[in-house]
Amino acid sequence: MTSSNIQFALAADIGGTNIRAALVDFEGRITGRGSINTEPERGIDDTSDRLAKLLQAAKATAPVGANIVGVGVSTAGPIRPATGTYNHPPNLPGWHDKTMKPRLSASTNMNVWVGHDATLAALAETRFGDHVGAQNLIYVTISTGVGGGIIANSEMVTGASGGAGEVGHLSVRTGAYRCNVGCDGCFEGNASGPAIARIARDRWTGSGALAELAEGDQEKITSRMVFDAADEGDQLAQDVVDLTIENVSIGLGALMNVFNPEAVVIGGGVVQGLQRHWQKLQKTVIERSLPGYGGTIPLTATRLGDDVSLLGAAQLAFRQARRL
Ligand SMILES: [Zn+2]
Repeated sequence: MTSSNIQFALAADIGGTNIRAALVDFEGRITGRGSINTEPERGIDDTSDRLAKLLQAAKATAPVGANIVGVGVSTAGPIRPATGTYNHPPNLPGWHDKTMKPRLSASTNMNVWVGHDATLAALAETRFGDHVGAQNLIYVTISTGVGGGIIANSEMVTGASGGAGEVGHLSVRTGAYRCNVGCDGCFEGNASGPAIARIARDRWTGSGALAELAEGDQEKITSRMVFDAADEGDQLAQDVVDLTIENVSIGLGALMNVFNPEAVVIGGGVVQGLQRHWQKLQKTVIERSLPGYGGTIPLTATRLGDDVSLLGAAQLAFRQARRL
């Protein structure tokens, strides 16, 4: 096969702090990586022009005569995917009602397709992860917040205005903690990294492994410390981990029941802690799902790591280019 037979896509992943870009081939091999600070306060046009330069540098690493199908952009949202227009994005202040799609398309002289990062993470899992070819897959990221992306019947579920997939605000425990949005007892408010730390902080006794890890200062507690202290047998930490597993399971069980996915993939910083309790998590999700699953739940942790949204952006470009 000559290089001209291999398809490539330029891919970008826009977050509130950093933007990463690379060249990705059809098999998911990544070259020409680069990154810049987002600096959203400089305005979307400024960021678009700096991203175009980053993409140009990535493009320069392609083999001579390479077939580059276009540019896929994964971004923090909320966003309307058809136009790439932002809708009050909390981490990209000043970008509301704006899009970089036309400007980026003009400066790269290529087609540009835009998608929400969690939805594209789900798309990446159906092409490059452990569930290649899955037609119904849900990706849930449990990190500073809790978000999700849904592939149903092989299509990305975006909703009427691009807001679908906000699984973090499923109610898991009424009368419990609230998220920053203010909903009562939601997944994010009760199982995100900060939520886990907050629950432990509110139960603080000042002794035990958790107190040692936090150097006696409850304000220093992180979700990672809670999982580590639980491993050391700290009862308070074990209780918080058990509660977290319960909260995560209620959220995931609801998703299983609504979407009947072939796979649920979890990513985000909290996964490292949850992976140490995987059997228990699976058992609890089964208890929270309808009996139709026959006691087996297709739950896995992502192995695409930080590249998941970049790979999803590339897959968006490959997929949309075929539909032109
Ligand atoms: Zn919420």
